[in-house]
Amino acid sequence: MLRLEGISAGYGNIQALRDVSLEVARGRMVALVGPNGAGKSTLFKVISGVVPARAGRIFYEGQDLLALDPADRAGLGIAHVPEGRQVFRTMTIAENLEMGAYCVRGRAAKKRAVERAYEIFPALAQRQRQQAGTLSGGQQQMLAIGRALASMPRLLLLDEPSLGLSPIMADEMFEHIGRAHTVAGVTVLLVEQRVAESLESCDWGCVLDFGRITLQGPPQTLLRDERIRATYMGIAAVPQDDAA
Ligand code: ATP
Repeated sequence: MLRLEGISAGYGNIQALRDVSLEVARGRMVALVGPNGAGKSTLFKVISGVVPARAGRIFYEGQDLLALDPADRAGLGIAHVPEGRQVFRTMTIAENLEMGAYCVRGRAAKKRAVERAYEIFPALAQRQRQQAGTLSGGQQQMLAIGRALASMPRLLLLDEPSLGLSPIMADEMFEHIGRAHTVAGVTVLLVEQRVAESLESCDWGCVLDFGRITLQGPPQTLLRDERIRATYMGIAAVPQDDAA
């Protein structure tokens, strides 16, 4: 569904992405994990056209994405939820979701799109008339994702949905995202610093470090990888002598 081939991008003399190639198959839920500054958000910005690619190509459903003007990428069924829960704070939950469904054609289809967001996030359904700015951090994140889902996307790009949440809330958020993936049948590319939790909820994982993909594979393989365990999960690698 989405294929990046040799993408490089940056800001002035900062090279944020170097020769990044990755593929997200339709119906998959893929985690792109890595530390601060690895280039994860830049990758999303290149896909949505906010940051230009310096080299490489991106294909989305067979189309050459970089050949399209960023404004023309809006109607392609890609929804990007940026880092930091950007909701319309003075609007209610219902109004936020209706804004998300703005481009969905037909009143009945718009209504169904909003109802689907409530089905995925029941906590939002209970507070439809509450102002978004008064919601908790976790609820605002649900609303940001719900609003993106209300646009009925085929591809959902989620930038650090667990940012600023407690470990328990973060686990819940990954469960909600898993349900969104299943209920909405949407393909998901998820960027995260919480390596273990995000890999556990996805069916493919890529590790981005200093702008390069250093590892990719099924989550079970990555979670057993000693470099990942030592670098991102704080678990010391087993010394060779002891491992025998
Ligand atoms: P985090 O997890 O902390 O959000 P990230 O993996 O998303 O990090 P990016 O935000 O993509 O990383 O940043 C990659 C590199 O590009 C970093 O070195 C960062 O300082 C740099 N960078 C990002 N945005 C800009 C910008 N607007 N101008 C200059 N440099 C930038």
